[in-house]
Amino acid sequence: MKLKIASKILDANERIAQDNKRVFSSMGVYVINLMSSPGAGKTSLLEMTINELDGRLKVGVIEGDITGTDDAARINALGIPVVQINTGSACHLDANMINEVLGDLPLNDLDIVFIENVGNLVCPAEFNVGEDIKTMVLSLPEGDDKPLKYPLMFQESDVLIINKIDLKPFLGVSIEKIKSDALSLNPSIRIFEVSCKTGEGIDEWAKWLHSTLKA
Ligand code: MG
Ligand code: ZN
Repeated sequence: MKLKIASKILDANERIAQDNKRVFSSMGVYVINLMSSPGAGKTSLLEMTINELDGRLKVGVIEGDITGTDDAARINALGIPVVQINTGSACHLDANMINEVLGDLPLNDLDIVFIENVGNLVCPAEFNVGEDIKTMVLSLPEGDDKPLKYPLMFQESDVLIINKIDLKPFLGVSIEKIKSDALSLNPSIRIFEVSCKTGEGIDEWAKWLHSTLKA
């Protein structure tokens, strides 16, 4: 019975997600659902990406947080259109929350919208919100056991960004294990290694974004 209710919720969510996707694509906007656990560096990645793109792609951001506007303020400081969603108690964004803010971004003027999901390695992977791709960030301090412990997130993501590689000398973690376990769960996942502290690897990721949007 509980499973039945959950699948009805997901069905309803999927219908709204498809509506959102139609709106985004009719405006020519490419949408990335950005997911990770808290503190992995989603907002830092957005800041670095926006700086690297340097206006070559017009970016908008939807920030999802349980409470507060700190992340939206960081994006706003870069002169980028941003909408903050506070979910209250919900630990993920759903398609309806995105639907409600579609009118709050200048979609006609944008090339790409990043939806920064609530920090959580579990249920954000279950809710489509109308994105073109899902991108997840895993930071090295979280450990190299995470792909096998949280497989759905890695299976659902199109892109895995391994962040904080500058900390590797201080940690007993294997980037190779993260990559091989992620690829065993999802052979087509595309992997980037970056440091949002030093900027290493951000150019590769930004280059890939460019080529993806042009394709
Ligand atoms: Mg954040
Ligand atoms: Zn949740």
